[in-house]
Amino acid sequence: MSDSNCLFCRIVSGQIPATKIYEDDHSLAFRDINPQSPVHVLLIPKRHVVSLKETGSDDHAVLGHLLIIAGKIAAQEGIAESGFRVVANSGSDAGQSVFHLHFHIMGGRPMAWPPG
Ligand code: 5GP
Ligand code: ZN
Repeated sequence: MSDSNCLFCRIVSGQIPATKIYEDDHSLAFRDINPQSPVHVLLIPKRHVVSLKETGSDDHAVLGHLLIIAGKIAAQEGIAESGFRVVANSGSDAGQSVFHLHFHIMGGRPMAWPPG
């Protein structure tokens, strides 16, 4: 299912361009338009899911798949050894701004903890 009003569904369908770096039947990864680190990739399920809050038992397989792909993308981007962060902002306190589940895969510089 896709949502024609959703930015990331429109990237999945090709209506909005993105710099894609990985794609399979269930997932798509592309570069963030406003990168906050030298490597900043967004990894999404192709199916429209709003956030982790909306996931359920049907999503076991795709969520596991996405995290395994995140590690592969980190290796492909050359940040697996230096270190990387995988983040899913969910809801307003976390600062989620696009309401289609996405994992930020970030690396290429040292990062502070805790995040702001
Ligand atoms: P959030 O704030 O929801 O965790 O992350 C949304 C991310 O989507 C932000 O990092 C933002 O820069 C990115 N973004 C917003 N619009 C676009 C777009 O049209 N194309 C791409 N590639 N990234 C986008
Ligand atoms: Zn969507």
